[in-house]
Amino acid sequence: MNIKAQCCGLALLFILLYYYHKQKKLQLGSGKAFTIIVDATIFGVFLDAFSIYAIANPSGWDIITVKAICKAYLCSIVAISLSAFLYTVLDAYSDNVRLLKKVNLGYGIFSLVGILLIIALPIEIYNGNISENVYTLGPSVYACYIFSFVLLISTLFFIATKKGKMNPHRREAVMFWMLLWIGASAVQFFFNQLLLVGYAASLGCMILYLKLENPEVFIDRTNGLFNQNALFQYLRQCFDSKEEKTLVGLTLLHSTVSNVRGEVPPSISNEIALYLISLTNVTVFENGDNEFVLALDDPQQTKTIIETISDRFDEGWGETGSIHVQENYSIIPDILIVPNMEDFLALLRYGRTHAAEYLNGNVYVIGPEILAAKKRELEIERLILDAMENDWVEVFYQPIYSTYHNKFTSAEALVRIRDDEGNLVSPVRFIPIAEQNGMIMRLGNIVFDKVCAFLAEHNPDDLGIEYIEVNLSVVQCGNEQLAADYIAIMKKYDIKPRWINLEITESASLDAKEILLANMKKLMTFGVRFSLDDFGTGQSNLNYIIDMPVDIVKFDREMTNAYFENGKARYVMEAAMHMIQGLDLRIVSEGVETKEQLDMMNKLGIDYIQGFYYSKPIPQDKYLAFIKEKNFS
Ligand code: C2E
Ligand code: MG
Ligand code: MG
Repeated sequence: MNIKAQCCGLALLFILLYYYHKQKKLQLGSGKAFTIIVDATIFGVFLDAFSIYAIANPSGWDIITVKAICKAYLCSIVAISLSAFLYTVLDAYSDNVRLLKKVNLGYGIFSLVGILLIIALPIEIYNGNISENVYTLGPSVYACYIFSFVLLISTLFFIATKKGKMNPHRREAVMFWMLLWIGASAVQFFFNQLLLVGYAASLGCMILYLKLENPEVFIDRTNGLFNQNALFQYLRQCFDSKEEKTLVGLTLLHSTVSNVRGEVPPSISNEIALYLISLTNVTVFENGDNEFVLALDDPQQTKTIIETISDRFDEGWGETGSIHVQENYSIIPDILIVPNMEDFLALLRYGRTHAAEYLNGNVYVIGPEILAAKKRELEIERLILDAMENDWVEVFYQPIYSTYHNKFTSAEALVRIRDDEGNLVSPVRFIPIAEQNGMIMRLGNIVFDKVCAFLAEHNPDDLGIEYIEVNLSVVQCGNEQLAADYIAIMKKYDIKPRWINLEITESASLDAKEILLANMKKLMTFGVRFSLDDFGTGQSNLNYIIDMPVDIVKFDREMTNAYFENGKARYVMEAAMHMIQGLDLRIVSEGVETKEQLDMMNKLGIDYIQGFYYSKPIPQDKYLAFIKEKNFS
């Protein structure tokens, strides 16, 4: 009896099944489709062997039973072909579940018709009596060929036409499997003693397993948690099939560094991972360093799970006890509040970078309102990034009038970016965001680079411009790299350092103040001068002016306005002015909009006027035209 190949096939499938079921798995659609293929193939290969056995040993069976077994085998071939087809189209329509269901239903009905025909049509059995050569023939067999062939061709058609949409590894594996099958059928056709089709189907399953469905590819080897790849697949499936899930981002913090994410030793994060893996009713993923994502089917369980984990954290981790690891949770009660996976990941990232702002202890629930606010921020973040990547960052210049020289001797450089419609976005909106996410360093360098390029191209000495004022963010000031970066840029354009005046504001922390002073020292040695911006807002006090080596103090618009509104403010401003002038510093009054304000500032003896009265911030070419017209006519 010629069933050796089938027996080998079955052995292969059972080994595969054993390992597959033993491994920890993610419930993915493709995994389910794969198990259907394996089940159908086991069933088919078994019936293949069984039908040969029944034909070769007719004495034990009546002919109707033998024919029924043979027909069952033919039906299983259609079933395997259908399962291969369904597995293939899963990718092609992953973003359109309704269409996927329709295609599945259509081909399901088609295959059912095929199976009914196989059952209804007559079948002939050939037994060569040499017991090595048995096969079936007749209309039932032809029906099997036709229906399987259509399914096979459809599978190949989808592989060829839905190229861009299919996972390339899946394409390759299914294609290889189909070719193996076609090859085996051809061999069997010409050498009908070599019954290889069943074995080829088993090999196909093994290829799929090794290339795509091996659950190991989704597991982190060090701690056994699902990895980031698994998280992406899982999320994609949730979004594609609109599955409601509660997700919790769990970020680890080293508590000795207050409010800043410190490094958690790997031994401890592994210990935490092992603890998380032991939790029931929750799927845990590792999403990069020190962050886990917990997926829950039932939102009601969120509180219990978080309490359980928190209790364990309260006990502390690590052997020495000297390292205290703290945790933050960003809960997204229903992931479908975000439209797609990319937005979800951005939200998670947002939760991570804003860990310090967590309001209710260490648990942050992201509902629709927060989401809307965050989305606006994320949108701006994207605009900043796009502007930086594509060289869309613009610098406007607001002319500053010298009351002593009676001309425009300087300007303030002000950064601008645009939204998707081309409208300007206020720096008041995007600077704080760039400061939070750290982009300000790069953005600041870009602005400074553009200002230096401008100065290199248009010699300010020829235009009557003494210097350009450039804003520095507190974040930049607190970065030790600042002076080196700025000096390098000035050297690159070979500009005179006296053409630059950097505006600083009062920094909140003492640490930052020391770094700022070190930066200022380096830059001043190079020849750069400084101003103190925003004087008169909540951010400033008189002591700061004494501490800081600045040449200029800039009165904020609020202060300029308040001067005209109440007597107290007028008194404060006059006192501040006398003190500043006593220190031999110069004053810029910002926000001067009217003639009345201008006259008063002149009377007070303010050195420089900046405001809409003279000009709003304008693009570089307009600023050049403005200066040429005002300073030289
Ligand atoms: P700031 O440094 O105090 O800049 C002055 C702001 O006052 C500018 O707003 C300017 O357009 C506005 N302004 C000037 N005169 C008048 C006036 O007469 N009336 C009114 N209503 N407003 C006037 P802008 O350009 O929107 O910038 C806002 C803030 O954004 C700046 O305040 C500064 O803190 C920040 N900023 C702008 N560009 C940069 C930059 O390149 N780097 C950094 N770090 N911050 C920047
Ligand atoms: Mg300024
Ligand atoms: Mg200002």
